Amino acid sequence: MEFKKCPRCGNFFHSDLEVCQACKTNENLDIQKLRNYIDLNGTENCQNVQQISIDTGINTKNLNRYLGTAEFSGILNKDSKK
Ligand SMILES: [Zn+2]
Repeated sequence: MEFKKCPRCGNFFHSDLEVCQACKTNENLDIQKLRNYIDLNGTENCQNVQQISIDTGINTKNLNRYLGTAEFSGILNKDSKK
């Protein structure tokens, strides 16, 4: 386990999780919201992070973090990916 800085609240924590214990619930809620949003709108309508942020209420910083994870990495069209 490594010592990490929580990307949501900035607290340091020691865990295998991506966020600290205090943020875990909100983190999971946000990810669930994002999954639902993609299910409802389809990936072709999920290309604008700003728009997703407005529609879901998830801030862009967290959104960009989620979209960089393995689960969501295929969502945004990237030139380097096909
Ligand atoms: Zn936190």
